Amino acid sequence: AKDQGRNNFQYFTDDMNIESLARMSLENELRIAITNEDFVVHFQPQMDLSQARVCGYEALVRWRHEQVDVIPPDRFIPVAEETGLIIQLGEIVLRQACLQMKALQSSGISDQSVAVNLSARQFRDRNLVPMVRRILSETGLAPRWLELEITESMLMDNIEQAISILTELKSIGVAIAIDDFGTGYSSLSYLTQLPVDKLKVDRSFVNKLPDCPRHTAITTAIIAMAQRLNLQVVAEGVETEPQASFLSSHQCNIQQGYLFCHPVSAAELPAQMIRMKSH
Ligand code: C2E
Ligand code: CA
Ligand code: CA
Ligand code: CA
Repeated sequence: AKDQGRNNFQYFTDDMNIESLARMSLENELRIAITNEDFVVHFQPQMDLSQARVCGYEALVRWRHEQVDVIPPDRFIPVAEETGLIIQLGEIVLRQACLQMKALQSSGISDQSVAVNLSARQFRDRNLVPMVRRILSETGLAPRWLELEITESMLMDNIEQAISILTELKSIGVAIAIDDFGTGYSSLSYLTQLPVDKLKVDRSFVNKLPDCPRHTAITTAIIAMAQRLNLQVVAEGVETEPQASFLSSHQCNIQQGYLFCHPVSAAELPAQMIRMKSH
């Protein structure tokens, strides 16, 4: 038993080494990828079903890796966050998202906005507000067409500081959405103090609709609360017709998910629009 214990320990440290090696090489590759800007921003349409139109897009970063093809953000965003590389990466994403939105507008699209995700570290970065200002002026995108998504837990970390950052961002003229709403530990009373425009109902609630009584109750409560507070509400991760019609029947008309469209490159958007219209 003792020997086995030692063996286990041996395996454990080997695994750790492999893991930390993989981690180090991911970090190094990420650094190179940032220098080369090997990232593309994909756009996932958000539908306004009350008007049967696309009202905006969420920008989602994709790492184009020569060996692995595409590495999903859940794998490298946490590494970028821990190493601080997210500051540079976040700027690359914001610039591309604004540039592409501007290009869509030039091609005749109007009344659509782009939502860009901010990580915790970006949100607390003292250069955030000047950076957003600079990218907007560089790209020529009017601030009202940019929305920034932050998660509930980022706000609750330090509520006073969050309010002051949000107030500064709002003064630029951009919109703010609270992402993954319902999964954090926010005290609802803070919601009335936060200068935000939108709540995004988390996918984990949406995908249990319309049959799970608990998730149905929470979702309808979030929608009702948003309306009372004069906030827009978006449902994310809508995958089925029953989910969409349940949400619509509860006046949640802005919806995003695979049912309508997957995230696609800006170049693929026109074809997707035609596909969606023909449905
Ligand atoms: P998120 O912000 O909650 O983004 C929504 C995720 O759900 C996206 O995954 C999207 O592709 C996926 N999704 C959309 N519709 C559906 C659906 O109907 N069903 C299911 N199952 N999934 C759906 P993705 O692109 O892999 O991104 C994962 C997470 O990585 C994002 O979650 C966000 O936290 C982070 N992320 C992505 N891009 C960025 C970025 O540019 N900056 C930062 N800071 N984080 C990002
Ligand atoms: Ca998001
Ligand atoms: Ca989300
Ligand atoms: Ca999420």
